[in-house]
Amino acid sequence: MSEKQVLPGDEIAVEEEYVAAEGTYVRDGKIYASQVGTLILDDNECVAKVVSYNPPNVLEIDDIIYLTIDDTRKTMATATAIASDKTQRAISSSTVATIHVSKISPDYTDNVADEFRKGDLVRGRVISVKPSLQITTKDPHLGVIRAQCGICKTELVPKGKKNLFCPKCKRSQPRKLADDYGDVKL
Ligand SMILES: [Zn+2]
Repeated sequence: MSEKQVLPGDEIAVEEEYVAAEGTYVRDGKIYASQVGTLILDDNECVAKVVSYNPPNVLEIDDIIYLTIDDTRKTMATATAIASDKTQRAISSSTVATIHVSKISPDYTDNVADEFRKGDLVRGRVISVKPSLQITTKDPHLGVIRAQCGICKTELVPKGKKNLFCPKCKRSQPRKLADDYGDVKL
């Protein structure tokens, strides 16, 4: 039995060898993590699962956290905080954060949808906890760390420092990328 930390979208096993269990999904015969957590490949039961970290933790200013983008509006993006770097623990699934348009990129941004899209996995830094959780992604190491094509769900690949590209649709889209997009280690 092996254990390691995984992110949603990480390829963790193949269906020929394991049965997909909690915290996973299957596509084209491969098993992927559907949540942040500990990967458990049980070779006796031939089961692959991802177990989420334990109870919600308290966030503090400057904590680095992982979020999924829920929506983009004119002046902000809304996101769900899913895990904290510091404690390696999941955050309550109802923890909603906002990223104001002025806090996304060191460059001027006038369209939030040019920086994030629904479903993107983002690394951000906490700048406010009360009255609401607010995040910045201005630093080079912050921003989108994983994203799928909105049309065909293929994992997007980086194209330059500010764009992602779908190899299947042959379309590129702008994003605020983290400097390790596509090569993220927890
Ligand atoms: Zn596509």
